[in-house]
Amino acid sequence: MLAEIKGLNEECGVFGIWGHENAAQITYYGLHSLQHRGQEGAGIVVAHQGMLQGHKGLGLVTEVFSNGELQALKGSAAIGHVRYSTAGGGGYENVQPLLFRSQTGSIALAHNGNLVNAMDLKLQLEEQGSIFQTTSDTEVFAHLIRRSHAPTFKEQIKEALTYVEGAFAFLLLTETALYVALDPHGFRPLSIGRLGNAYVIASETCAFDVVGATYEREVEPGELIIISAEGMRSERFAQAQSRSICSMEYIYFARPDSNVDGINIHTARKNLGKRLALEAPVEADIVTGVPDSSISVAIGYAEATGIPYELGLIKNRYVGRTFIQPSQSLREQGVKMKLSPVRGVVAEKRVVMVDDSIVRGTTSKRIVAMLREAGATEVHVRISSPPITHPCFYGIDTSTKEELIASNYTVEEIRQIIGADSLAFLSQEGLLEAIGRSPHLPLRGQCMACFTGNYPTDIHKARSLFMATK
Ligand code: SF4
Repeated sequence: MLAEIKGLNEECGVFGIWGHENAAQITYYGLHSLQHRGQEGAGIVVAHQGMLQGHKGLGLVTEVFSNGELQALKGSAAIGHVRYSTAGGGGYENVQPLLFRSQTGSIALAHNGNLVNAMDLKLQLEEQGSIFQTTSDTEVFAHLIRRSHAPTFKEQIKEALTYVEGAFAFLLLTETALYVALDPHGFRPLSIGRLGNAYVIASETCAFDVVGATYEREVEPGELIIISAEGMRSERFAQAQSRSICSMEYIYFARPDSNVDGINIHTARKNLGKRLALEAPVEADIVTGVPDSSISVAIGYAEATGIPYELGLIKNRYVGRTFIQPSQSLREQGVKMKLSPVRGVVAEKRVVMVDDSIVRGTTSKRIVAMLREAGATEVHVRISSPPITHPCFYGIDTSTKEELIASNYTVEEIRQIIGADSLAFLSQEGLLEAIGRSPHLPLRGQCMACFTGNYPTDIHKARSLFMATK
């Protein structure tokens, strides 16, 4: 589904490289392949001759680096970031990597995820004299490092990592090393690869394929990796908790050609479709998926039911962020910018319309109406996730509880609201089994909090440990 019309948005993607003469260029291509994880800002920081230097801006990677800015970024190590602004809101100052300069050296930070105790820590730091340049939760981490009295920089990072809670995949670049850390629950994906002698780190493995790197392994929850002229070292800053990788990475966010924690996304989505077919079959003439994320699911549903898969909906790929969107009145007249039904395919047909999720319900309602206007005789909606009933605090913008339609209405009521002939969601067991991670194995679990309300971390606990130790 289309993130910008869905109301379900990933916060970021990160990419890092150490030991390659074209570090900035490689990072650019890596970020480009992670663009689906955030379209509102992008940036790259390089380490060169004992200095950190960066460029960032609002917009897509190709817009931010359009005028030779890349050429100016020399050096053999770099980190980059693409951002969707949730925590802290938008604005240039919140675009990452954040770069901090001080007498003792500079650090650049790129973060994917959301620190659930950032506000609490920020208040405490401000009371102790810290001044913040941004409204981003990521800046808190830099202050925690700077305020640490631990004897080495690595120990300072480790100490700071024990204060932050929630979801974080951090890349931190200094003049002499690249540090990589994943939170103890491992909410967000983060992989390590090799490009010749260079080390590469990315939110998704599709970035490795694009730059010609080979996949090595996942960063483990609670692991701190240090890459420097001496090579790569792995240490721990915390014991791994039961793994809570985000279910939505499999359902919706990650690219189909990525493997998340060893599971290919296209295959996982096809399995979701097959399971959905088993749980909620229906008599129909064609199956169609809402592009892009639901196409794999629709193929799986079609395979399992024997109903032919057809391209019933087309996404217009050339709607830029800056394109003038139709006004409400034009929209009502049927000006459809992002998605169009294929009349010749759906007319006179009973259509199974497969989508990944329903957040507020407005998009599903629009698509059902679109298919009917194009002549579909019946529209059966099948959703490859359980109903989203709770907000996410780990870096996904899923709206508030009040806005979530499944939090306020039954499945039958939602069917009526969106105007479908039938509606079914995938069960929670179906989701877990189809993806193939066993939640009973300590390192194979996944976060289901937006479907269950069972959050893997204590999201309301005020963090007093930092205060207690200062
Ligand atoms: S609450 Fe939902 S969206 Fe957030 S991390 Fe968990 S599974 Fe992902």
